[in-house]
Order: sequence, then C-alpha cells, then structure tokens
Amino acid sequence: MSNRSVEEEPDENAFTNHYFHCGVQWDDTWSCQCNDRCPVCNAEIEPYASTDNETGEEEVHAPDVAQLAGAV
Ligand SMILES: [Zn+2]
Repeated sequence: MSNRSVEEEPDENAFTNHYFHCGVQWDDTWSCQCNDRCPVCNAEIEPYASTDNETGEEEVHAPDVAQLAGAV
C-alpha cells in the first residue's frame, strides 16, 4: 500500500523563465525562478522575467534587460 498517489506531485513547470543574453532571447520552464545557461556563451544567466504558469502573471526582475529583449 502506498499513499503516493494522493500526494501532489511537485509542479515541474510552475514557472516559465525568460532570459536574454548575447542578443538571444529564450524561455525555459522550471519548477522555480532559477538560472539557465546562455546557448551562445554558456554563462549562467538570471531570468529577466518569470511567468507564474498557475496565475499567468509575469514578474519582471530586470526591466532594463526586458526592454533589450523586446519583452516590454
Ligand atoms: Zn551569452
């Protein structure tokens, strides 16, 4: 007997994070607002914004970067 089925699975797609670096804009879906690797220079990049996939609300962390990325 296992009660695993009644437990809620962690939502692995809770946030869509938006990144911009080296002139490239990309999105990635994570369970948290975590960093990703730039596909061009492989640096660790903080998201300039994150969308909460439950509420659909976008939280902008770096408005200047968001502007560069053409997101605002
Ligand atoms: Zn880069």
